[in-house]
Amino acid sequence: MSVLIRHIESSRYLISRNRAMIAATRQLIACNRRRLNPWWGFSGGSDEQNPVDELRLSVRQRLVRGDLVPAPRRVWAGRGTGQRCVVCAREILASEVENEISVRSNGLEVTLWAHLPCLRVWRDESDALEHGASELLGDFRGATP
Ligand SMILES: [Zn+2]
Repeated sequence: MSVLIRHIESSRYLISRNRAMIAATRQLIACNRRRLNPWWGFSGGSDEQNPVDELRLSVRQRLVRGDLVPAPRRVWAGRGTGQRCVVCAREILASEVENEISVRSNGLEVTLWAHLPCLRVWRDESDALEHGASELLGDFRGATP
């Protein structure tokens, strides 16, 4: 009986931590979008902002700051269940592939979800960071106001 109560308490604690992390992640995404707009504004080469490039930069920035853990290799894929994508913050619809990712953050096991294209961006940027893309990151840091 007491084991059961401890499990319930532990679950409640984990749920509250997850909600706090999700809220923090959403804030960071909103914050990054605002920061990115002026930066992309004077690149001038393309007709419109490329949303994939914007997303890639946001992921890179979050990885560098440690706000996002490197993408793990092991994921579970299935049909979308309406979870919020950790990369783009949009809902994962039933018509889309939903990747469930389990990561360890601050000693806690946290479940995150991502669209398939978003997961690719997250993995690419994680790999780039892991394999010492320091020149790229140096340029990127230099571009930050
Ligand atoms: Zn997404």
